[in-house]
Amino acid sequence: MRTKIVAGNWKLNKDKEGSKSLIKELKKAIQENPLQDTRVIVAPTFVNLSASVKAAKKSKIEVVAQNMHQAINGAYTGEVSADMLKAIGVATVILGHSERRTYFNETDAALAEKMNTVLEKEMEAIFCFGEVLEDRKSGNHFAVVESQLKNALFHLEGKDWSSIILAYEPVWAIGTGETASADQAQEMHAFIRSIIEKQYSTAVAEAVSILYGGSVKPSNAEEIFSKPDVDGGLIGGAALSVADFVGIINAI
Ligand code: PGA
Repeated sequence: MRTKIVAGNWKLNKDKEGSKSLIKELKKAIQENPLQDTRVIVAPTFVNLSASVKAAKKSKIEVVAQNMHQAINGAYTGEVSADMLKAIGVATVILGHSERRTYFNETDAALAEKMNTVLEKEMEAIFCFGEVLEDRKSGNHFAVVESQLKNALFHLEGKDWSSIILAYEPVWAIGTGETASADQAQEMHAFIRSIIEKQYSTAVAEAVSILYGGSVKPSNAEEIFSKPDVDGGLIGGAALSVADFVGIINAI
């Protein structure tokens, strides 16, 4: 049985008070309905991580970062390191979100380095990838996804994969209201598992949790999550509302 995960990516939303109160409300909602086997994750902005870790204490809510730099330290103005995150109780980081790839020029090569740092520092990554609309229209989506995984992750060893959660997020479905159909998600997730199996082993492929992301809402979550290779979701917009986020968690 793979771990089921629902993760909320808050992006550039919620100030300190907003972050704390969202976590407190979520905590209350989850206490009423404990969802034993599902990991519940939230990713506030860097400056609100400490306050969020504190707010999430004594609950199953895990607080993770939205990004980190690959260097251990040094002259990288504006960046945050793995050790800095660990020092405040954050051991998981989202890497390679399409907004970071698009607006901050994050490349597969940089992501491969970030992954190396995650492993060196014994952290965990939620690794995001996915095709843009043109790739999907031209039928290139499988090749694009394969190259994203190959270039950033396939230099790793099989044992390293216990520190990786994958998040397939077709860029055309992020924040657009347009979701991949449950069958499109399943088709891609099965493909992803097949290439991991080819590169590593059946055991590695079967063990890795693969989340779907892109306009997941309470109304479509159940159908998407019912697919055998979909192990949960990475949620943007709907993670900012406790009712919607809890609705999505309950859909698992
Ligand atoms: P969305 O974002 O749920 O608002 O589409 C998903 C994401 O960016 O992870």
